[in-house]
Amino acid sequence: MVIRALTLSLIFLICSSIDLVAKERDLKMAIVLVGVGEIDQEVVKVLKGDLNKIFGKQVWVGKGMPEPHYAFNKKREQYLSTVILNALMNEKEYKASEKILGIVDHDLYVPELNFVFGEASQRVAVISLTRLRQEFYNLPQDQSLFHKRALTEAVHELGHTYGLGHCGDPRCVMFFSNRLTDTDRKGSEFCTKCKSKLR
Ligand SMILES: [Zn+2]
Ligand SMILES: [Zn+2]
Repeated sequence: MVIRALTLSLIFLICSSIDLVAKERDLKMAIVLVGVGEIDQEVVKVLKGDLNKIFGKQVWVGKGMPEPHYAFNKKREQYLSTVILNALMNEKEYKASEKILGIVDHDLYVPELNFVFGEASQRVAVISLTRLRQEFYNLPQDQSLFHKRALTEAVHELGHTYGLGHCGDPRCVMFFSNRLTDTDRKGSEFCTKCKSKLR
């Protein structure tokens, strides 16, 4: 009986240490926020705290990058998001296990769309803050709505870097946002299906 109890507690001990190692490894697989050009530091601070809670990963703020003049399209007066993604991908200072979220305050586009709120490829993502402000639509400023939208877009693009595709549930953060009303309706939470895929 004593031996059985000892064996059981030994198994428990091994399991909990395996769990601890997994948790530690998880924490090391951090999310890095990188401002590309001049960025509102308040929103970066909010994102840092909220993304840590949502993904359970360490979130840190990386060294900012210069204004992305190289991505500017004079004709469209917008910035090509794919080119900014590539610039982030080529940054050598981040580890392969880290997810990189670039934050830009310029209007982004890809050739086949009028604009994009963000884009992701492999472990790198980028979001634009420009269309998330009420002022962009000539409406009075609303900081808490702006922060909520930034979080929704950040979680969506990071969701892609964790291998999630678009979700058909209009209330899930992984639903594709065609317009701002989609972003506002869905909010920053994953549906049960996406949440389980994330784990
Ligand atoms: Zn998407
Ligand atoms: Zn979903």
